[in-house]
Amino acid sequence: MKTDYLIVGAGFFGAVMAERISRVLKKKVLILEKRPHIGGNCYSERDQQTGIEFHKYGTHIFHTNSKKVYDYLGQFTEFNSYYHQVLTTHQGKVYQMPINLETINSFYEVNLKPFEVEDFLKKEKAKETYDNPKNLEEKAISLVGRPLYEAFIKGYTKKQWQKDPKDLPASIINRLPIRSNYDESYFNNGRYQGIPLEGYTAIFEKMLDHPLIEVRNNSDYFALREQIEVKEKTIYSGPLDRYFNYKLGRLEWRSVRFEKKIEAYPDYQGTSVMNYADVEEPFTRIHEPRHLHPERSYPKEQTLLFYEYSQENPEEPYYPVGTEKNHELKKAYQELAQKEDNVLFGGRLGTYAYYDMDQVIGQALAAFESL
Ligand code: UDP
Repeated sequence: MKTDYLIVGAGFFGAVMAERISRVLKKKVLILEKRPHIGGNCYSERDQQTGIEFHKYGTHIFHTNSKKVYDYLGQFTEFNSYYHQVLTTHQGKVYQMPINLETINSFYEVNLKPFEVEDFLKKEKAKETYDNPKNLEEKAISLVGRPLYEAFIKGYTKKQWQKDPKDLPASIINRLPIRSNYDESYFNNGRYQGIPLEGYTAIFEKMLDHPLIEVRNNSDYFALREQIEVKEKTIYSGPLDRYFNYKLGRLEWRSVRFEKKIEAYPDYQGTSVMNYADVEEPFTRIHEPRHLHPERSYPKEQTLLFYEYSQENPEEPYYPVGTEKNHELKKAYQELAQKEDNVLFGGRLGTYAYYDMDQVIGQALAAFESL
């Protein structure tokens, strides 16, 4: 087999590269994808029983502040008006997440004004101060104090990462804004956001629909690499450590699994994602995908739910685990990667980085420009 470019993985990194290389450089691209479908972890499909579109690997909300990324994706889809909000259940009561003024007022049964929040939390934070927070627990306590940390962050984080928050880096919590107003938006970088009108898979189908692109599903790069002659470059978006056959050791990945349930209600939880903050519930969140498409008229007799559980499964890597040890190992693998002739590494798995979709698309557009 001969190709100009070989791309490993048909997620956003691979798909953007394939789209650009075929259309702009007019070169031949072969994509090898291990899974039976394209789209990586953004893959979406319609549930057979209910007709509701869902994201097989967990709810994915496109959000970005980058006009460049938004305009690029806009060539392949329109977005609906979905705006992401998350709620969390603690001790049987529902609160807003990320922690905002409503969460604080409701949790402490007070009625603070925004300008009173800082002083109120200061008293709480004075009980336990960390000038230089070393881990997720210390960072979270220094932001909101221990009671809010224990209610909304500790249990969820333990379930999600299956690690004590003391053993996790402070940086993870930076993903989560803390607000002293009633802003309920989940994302700080959500200037452009929504769900693609026809789902994510339709975007990938359009991006990869080109005579110079061939996609092979159910195809393992490591089983086929010897048979392929690559004229220009290999673009690899699989797990970084797997590429080197784990020779420096294994990077740690956190995986999740989903349990599907159908309930005979038109609406089960009133929102697309409900987090469960307490360790008593073994799942981290319940997804109800019908809420992702408010513009569609879905059947009212039943609704589709997915219970999300964190798990260990190196075959299905989702999240890089940002501990010091993994960081060092990643750096060592990156040094090897730089020495690899004519191979470009990218994407969440290929760079072992906790990237969102828009960051991966931005990374691929920049990588293409550097080609
Ligand atoms: N987090 C939390 N409580 C929540 C939601 C998030 O403590 O209700 C923390 C948790 O440590 C999590 C991190 O914030 O790993 C980032 O959450 P995010 O929703 O960004 O994770 P993702 O959507 O990528 O799974």
